[in-house]
Amino acid sequence: MINLILFGPPGSGKGTQAAKLVDKYELLHISTGDLFRYEIGNNTELGVKAKSYMNKGELVPDEVTIGMLQNKVEANPDVRGYIFDGFPRTEPQAEALDRFLMSKGQEVTALIALDVDDDEIVKRLLERGKTSGRADDSNEEVIRKRIRVYNETTSVVYNYYDEKGKSERIEGKGTIEEIFSRICESIEKLNV
Ligand code: AMP
Repeated sequence: MINLILFGPPGSGKGTQAAKLVDKYELLHISTGDLFRYEIGNNTELGVKAKSYMNKGELVPDEVTIGMLQNKVEANPDVRGYIFDGFPRTEPQAEALDRFLMSKGQEVTALIALDVDDDEIVKRLLERGKTSGRADDSNEEVIRKRIRVYNETTSVVYNYYDEKGKSERIEGKGTIEEIFSRICESIEKLNV
C-alpha cells in the first residue's frame, strides 16, 4: 500500500496533482473538501453543517471530518492505496489518521507538501473563483482567512510527519508537468 498525504495551502495545486497521481499509481483520491461539497450538493445534514464553516473559510470540526474520511476509506478497501488531499488539516486529525491506518496494519507512507507563497495563492484562488462556483474562492477576505487557518492550524501537520521522517517539501511553482515530475521523483525515492 502507498498512502500519500498531498499537503499544502489552498490553491497550491493539490487537486490537480492528485488527479495525475491517481492515473499513474492507481491510488484512490480522497479529498475531504470534495466530499463536503458532495454532501452540500445533496443537501444532507452533514452538508448543511459543513457549509456554515466552509463559507467562512473555517475548518469543519474534527469529529465530523474524521468520521467522514474513515467512512470513505472503509467503503473502498480494494485499492493499492490512498491519496489524502486536504486531510489531515489539524494535529488531532493526523493522530486519528495514524491510529485508523494502524488498526488496518497500514501507515502513512509520506506527506508531500507543495510550497507556494501567499500572494500567488490569492491570485490563483481568485482566478479559480471565476469558474469554480465555490463561494470560498470568490471572496478575498475568505481566501485570506483560509490561508491564516492553514498557517496557524494546519501547517503543524507538516512538522508532525517531519518528526517521523516522512515529510517532503516540493517547489509548487512552475508548470503542472514540472511540479508533477518533482512529486513523482520524490515518490520514486520512497522505494515502495
Ligand atoms: P478544500 O477543498 O480542501 O480547499 O476545502 C474546502 C473547505 O472544506 C475548507 O476550507 C474547510 O472549511 C473544509 N475542509 C476540507 N477538508 C477539511 C479538513 N480536513 N478539516 C476541516 N475542514 C475541512
